[in-house]
Amino acid sequence: MDILIRNARLRKKTGNWDIAVSEGVIEKIARRINGRPRRKIDARGKLVTESFVNAHLHLCKVYTLMRMNETALKDYHGEGMGKAMTAIESAAKIKDNYDVKWILPNVRRALRSAARFGNTHIRAFADVDSKAGLIGVKALIKAREEFKGVVDVQVVAFPQDGVVREPEAADLIREAMDLGADVVGGIPWIEFTEKDEQEHIDKMFEIARVYNKNISMLVDDAGDPGLRTLEMLALATLREGWEGRVLAHHARAMSQYPEPYFLKLVALLKQARLGVISDPHTGPLHARVKEMLHEGALVALGQDDVSDAYYPYGRNNMLEVAFLNSHLLWMTTEAEMEQLYDMITVDAARAMGLKRFGLRKGNPANLVVLHEENVLEALRNHGAPRFVISHGRVVSKG
Ligand SMILES: [Zn+2]
Repeated sequence: MDILIRNARLRKKTGNWDIAVSEGVIEKIARRINGRPRRKIDARGKLVTESFVNAHLHLCKVYTLMRMNETALKDYHGEGMGKAMTAIESAAKIKDNYDVKWILPNVRRALRSAARFGNTHIRAFADVDSKAGLIGVKALIKAREEFKGVVDVQVVAFPQDGVVREPEAADLIREAMDLGADVVGGIPWIEFTEKDEQEHIDKMFEIARVYNKNISMLVDDAGDPGLRTLEMLALATLREGWEGRVLAHHARAMSQYPEPYFLKLVALLKQARLGVISDPHTGPLHARVKEMLHEGALVALGQDDVSDAYYPYGRNNMLEVAFLNSHLLWMTTEAEMEQLYDMITVDAARAMGLKRFGLRKGNPANLVVLHEENVLEALRNHGAPRFVISHGRVVSKG
């Protein structure tokens, strides 16, 4: 036995429990476990759960806000998000001086912060376009290898500036997949016409099919109720037989959809087993998280940004993300706090397609030992866990 955690409080269970970890895996969970572990951790009756999962992070852009002016930030956060597309265009300025030399130290800093706060799994977007070329994706792939077993990173090859608007983007995405990117990205709403949005989605599905990869697309990220790319994405998912392999991010225009259309859309999402990753803390509008949960759709929370053109804060601290969104979504009852906790752990893991994730016998030991004894206190304090265990190894103490 490598690690024996004693006196752990578990979610939705009474009393204290012991957890045995061997060879990176949760070997046993029982009231009392005897044996000679290499390391013993006394949880002192505090909460032990699976570690935190962040299904949406622009990792190539972390800590870039200080390298640019605030034009994009002001436009993105402006009234009704009417200038979201302008914001993306001005944020692209950062790529004029794109260099792995300054990107990589930023990426490492963000991943160290993730480890400290128990965020062991991240779906990370790397811009792949005419300005960024393959610089961002190369930096993230290098960081993914460096942090393997501590913070597991899925790299998304993401055509930030469009695929029809930038005809060279599709070839660059193919090259990124050849380099070892894990997920095919997309941002169809950025195109100028509905026909182009559809073409964008189709081109990315074509690549996903060739490389047999999952898909993550940013959809409808502005205050325009006419944006309908989430529906297009769900229909493409069904048509291509990619159910359970596609994620949508943002979907902020959903907040302005008429009710009958919203309900039809949620039914489609469920049929396509398409999850939505929401991040209400990074923009004035957000997807209808509570209503989607009520309808039984898969929804999780993401950090989205860490000090970049769109959002000044962020630490890859998913308890902090849940705390902020407890306010923004008005999810403050005990049952809703439990839902928030699921959205930064097991539901986010399911959305990312992680197999064998969760505090269960036989699963990889990705755990946090908290300073608090319940979810309410964990959200209130949203500090670093006492111990962060990734793949059966203590990777951080706080
Ligand atoms: Zn985003």
